[in-house]
Amino acid sequence: MNHQPRKRFGQNFLNDAQVISRIIESINPGTAQNMVEVGPGLGALTLPLLERVSELQVIEIDRDLIAKLQQRQLTNLVIHERDVLTVDWSSLAAEQHVRVVGNLPYNIGTPLLLKLLDAREHVQDVHVMLQKEVVDRLCAQTGTRAYGRLSVLMQSCFDIQALFDVPPEAFTPPPKVQSAVVRLTPLTQSPNAELIEKLSQATRLAFGNKRKTLRNNLKKTLSAESLSAAGIDPQARAETLTLEQFLLIAKMLP
Ligand code: SAM
Repeated sequence: MNHQPRKRFGQNFLNDAQVISRIIESINPGTAQNMVEVGPGLGALTLPLLERVSELQVIEIDRDLIAKLQQRQLTNLVIHERDVLTVDWSSLAAEQHVRVVGNLPYNIGTPLLLKLLDAREHVQDVHVMLQKEVVDRLCAQTGTRAYGRLSVLMQSCFDIQALFDVPPEAFTPPPKVQSAVVRLTPLTQSPNAELIEKLSQATRLAFGNKRKTLRNNLKKTLSAESLSAAGIDPQARAETLTLEQFLLIAKMLP
C-alpha cells in the first residue's frame, strides 16, 4: 500500500472488491450528477466512481494521500484539500444538489451528519459507511435501546435506510467494530432551522438523564401541566416518545 495509515484521520482503507462494488451499486451513480466523496484515501471508491461520473469532487484532509491522488493525474477529479467539517455545502451545490458518498473516518461520522442536516436543502442524498452502532442509532425506532437524540434529529429531516453491514476484515487495518452502509434522503418537508434548534434543545433536555422521567428532565423549562395539556405523559421517559411528540415539546419551548 506504501502509506502508513494514520489513526488520527480514522484511516481504515477498504480492501474488499465485493464490498466496494456493493457500495457503488447502492449509490448507482449517474454520469452528470454532482457527486462529492468524503475522504477518498487511496481511492478504493474514487476510482470506480470515476468510471461512472463525468466529474467527481473529493474532500481529503491528509496531504500525503492528496499527493498520491494527484500523481495519478485523473482528469475528471477535483480535489479539495480540507477538513470536511468546514466545507460550505451551498457552494459545492451551486449548480446542482450534491450526492455525498464516503467511507467515513469514525471520529467525524456524527458531526458530519449533523452538518449535512443543516445543509440538507443542498443535498440530494448521502451514502456513507459508519460504525454499525451509529447506523443503528440513526434508524432506531421509539422504545428501543438505540433510540436517542441522533435518531430523533436525523429522522425529522431524512428518510434513513440501513443498507448492509461490513465486517472488520474488509478494511486495512481492520477497525475494532462492525461497520454498516446507510442511505439518507432528505424529506420533501422538514422542520425549519428554528424548529430544528428547538428540537435539538428538547432532545438534549429530555434525554439528559436516561433514568429520570420527562417531568424531571424538563423541570426547569416546561411544567408537567403543559406536557399533560399536549397529551404527553410527564412520567414517561424520553425513549418512549415519538418524533411527533418531540416536535410538540420543541414547539412549546420558550
Ligand atoms: N475512501 C477510502 C477507503 O474507503 O479506503 C478511505 C476511507 S478512510 C475510513 C477515511 C478517509 O477520510 C481517509 O482518507 C482520511 O484521511 C480522510 N479524513 C479523515 N478526516 C477527515 C476530515 N476531517 N476531512 C476530510 N477527510 C478526512
